[in-house]
Amino acid sequence: MRLLRPLLTRRALLLTPTFLLACARPEQQTSAEIEIIDFNAAGAQTGAHRRKHIDRSLAEWRSRLTLTQFYSARQGSTDTPFTGTYYQLHAPGLFRCVCCQTALFHSRAKFDSDTGWPSFWQPVAPQNVRTRVDKTLPEERTEVLCALCDAHLGHVFPDGPAPTGLRYCINESALRFDPA
Ligand SMILES: [Zn+2]
Repeated sequence: MRLLRPLLTRRALLLTPTFLLACARPEQQTSAEIEIIDFNAAGAQTGAHRRKHIDRSLAEWRSRLTLTQFYSARQGSTDTPFTGTYYQLHAPGLFRCVCCQTALFHSRAKFDSDTGWPSFWQPVAPQNVRTRVDKTLPEERTEVLCALCDAHLGHVFPDGPAPTGLRYCINESALRFDPA
């Protein structure tokens, strides 16, 4: 028992919030702030706000999402086309990030791409999404992510309709639709 006590004391120390905070990765302590454009339920812009980048462990994301949402938004998998309901949904409203609720796309910029995935010609605000080069296939693609939490949303292709000529090909599993 005399041997166990120091171990238990040490274990208790390791679990204190102060110790856990001290062990946090430097990038978590100095997380960049990002400007996000907010929208209300009616889809009207309510201003720009600076928010701390959301940085959660995969275990935390797994506990907050369904398995399909987790694989899609946090592991980069792609929904099977022509499944779900959003690809043929044209009700007015906002499509938000399933992970952090950031407004991503408005129904006004949605179009029928005949690909079986929800498709948009522009994000609701350029600040709310970011892109990066995806080299996982022989043909290089441009991945689209939520700017605030880095959720994988899909890809953007230069074969969309006017006025942008872009096609944001987005996974339903990474979205939550808020009807207007
Ligand atoms: Zn997000």
